[in-house]
Amino acid sequence: MTTLHTRVLIIGAGATGAGLLRDLALRGVPALLIEQRDVNSGASGGNHGLLHSGARYVASDREAAEECREEGDILRRLAPQCIEDTGGLFVAVRGDDERYVADFPGLCAASSVPCRGLDLGTARVMEPALSPDLVAAFAVQDGAVDPFMLSLDNIAQALSLGNSMRRNLAARSMEVENGRIVRVLCRDITTGEDVRIEADLVLNAAGAWAARVASLAGARIGMLFSMGSLLITQDRIATRVINRLRRPSDADILVPGGTVSILGTTSIRVASPDGCRPSVTEADRIIDDARAMLPILDRTRYIRAYAGVRPLVSLGPAGDDRAVSRGFALVDHAADGLENFITITGGKLTTYRLMAEKAADLACAKLGVAAPCLTRTEPLPASTLGQWTEPGKGPRAWVDSRTEDDLVLCECEMVSRGVIDSIIDEAGAMRGRSMLKAIGMRSRVGKGPCQGGFCGQRVTGHLYDRGMVAGMQGLAELKTFTERRWRGFSPILWGVPLMQADLQEALYCGSMDLEFGPPPSTRDDDGACAPVAKEPA
Ligand SMILES: Cc1cc2nc3c(=O)[nH]c(=O)nc-3n(C[C@H](O)[C@H](O)[C@H](O)COP(=O)(O)OP(=O)(O)OC[C@H]3O[C@@H](n4cnc5c(N)ncnc54)[C@H](O)[C@@H]3O)c2cc1C
Repeated sequence: MTTLHTRVLIIGAGATGAGLLRDLALRGVPALLIEQRDVNSGASGGNHGLLHSGARYVASDREAAEECREEGDILRRLAPQCIEDTGGLFVAVRGDDERYVADFPGLCAASSVPCRGLDLGTARVMEPALSPDLVAAFAVQDGAVDPFMLSLDNIAQALSLGNSMRRNLAARSMEVENGRIVRVLCRDITTGEDVRIEADLVLNAAGAWAARVASLAGARIGMLFSMGSLLITQDRIATRVINRLRRPSDADILVPGGTVSILGTTSIRVASPDGCRPSVTEADRIIDDARAMLPILDRTRYIRAYAGVRPLVSLGPAGDDRAVSRGFALVDHAADGLENFITITGGKLTTYRLMAEKAADLACAKLGVAAPCLTRTEPLPASTLGQWTEPGKGPRAWVDSRTEDDLVLCECEMVSRGVIDSIIDEAGAMRGRSMLKAIGMRSRVGKGPCQGGFCGQRVTGHLYDRGMVAGMQGLAELKTFTERRWRGFSPILWGVPLMQADLQEALYCGSMDLEFGPPPSTRDDDGACAPVAKEPA
């Protein structure tokens, strides 16, 4: 069995783990980040991508509102490549709570969240898709953040400073001696290889899986899971983020993401973070609720639905829901008799940097490292690893540097073979992992209206040409890739997407003997993620 040694082991490569790897690297602390699947496999790859101004929380959680405002400002300044500084609107329509509308500017002022009242004509000029039933509008400083670029850029800088990362390595058990974790036993889930990791300190950044990881060392974290579903529209519906001006509820945010908009979300208590998928019922409910502020959503083509799971941490006695936090939780497991174990979970993408800072501060205090946090002041360099997740970058690069034989492999998002080649070169050795999946995560491949229907086959063909896959391996990767895209397709099958699905079915079921199953809400294999309750807003 291989044994690896490091000063700090970080478990979980979402935005928080990626931010931690970078934070520690900038302080000169050697660290290894392990991830059971690939970067952003958890909530960091299944969220709305809203850079919160804080306005959403001014009534319910003033601390969260202030944290979001501050962190949003820092990210806009230090990581501009990951942010689309769109601005945002909060809008109320006829029938919404007038008291909430009247209180909103005062609540924003109390949290120092900038907010400007707009007359209705101006708001409609700014966003023509808004409802004719509009009764109030305020401008705020919301934005959109690219979570994949954010994590990849954090990891890239950390790697350049000497820290390291292993993908597909899952922590499976921990050995504890004299109140310290002395070994973390991991398995490479693609090769089956067992790996032993010895570290001075273990940082658990496993998001919704944090309680499970803590339990490997015998520590307990009370955790509940809230699944949220989101829909992606084929076109960009609005220039800015549009929020419904009411207490946070279902389907009250539309976030622009490059060429598309993302609509959501819901909040359903589930029993486990594993295997969560959106259902047809949820997709219907999101559109039903959101059309009041944006009637155009009734006539919009949706290209995909997806879901993520929010961990809600209870730091009170077991079962005490009043102690459930929607902010982030930093847990020093010294209280459980484990001196070198820390958990950081909950929170928001917008506050990932602050979460990493607080966890790294505690880790450094335990390790006797005096170096201060630099991520609050140092710009996050743009990396070559993260650049191709940006919509529009692929087409620009193709037009700028087109050579006669640089074919476009993904027509919806105009991703060329040259771009695919540079991703293959950057992604490093696959060691049995799916290169097609890694390309999809690091680029726009599979994200356009065809949802992988055409580009999946072309990219796989190119992988065969380059000798990256052989025999049945490429077809097996394509089959898995297509099935995963299908999961996002199946809850929104009406109108044009239904025709696209028919085409896809003909292509794939004919050529690969694939069976596309019934929509998820009618399947019985989702037990792990069965809703247990509707979450309070
Ligand atoms: C539906 C939804 C919408 C959201 N929208 C927004 C938004 O618009 N704006 C915003 O600011 N925030 C939003 N959030 C919150 C935000 O997505 C999360 O706070 C953030 O992504 C959490 O990042 P994380 O790194 O802590 O956890 P995660 O991203 O979940 O990362 C945890 C990682 O740990 C890995 N892992 C687990 N167990 C192991 C193990 N045993 N070994 C190795 N690795 C392991 C997982 O595979 C995963 O990749 C949203 C969340 C949801 C669910």
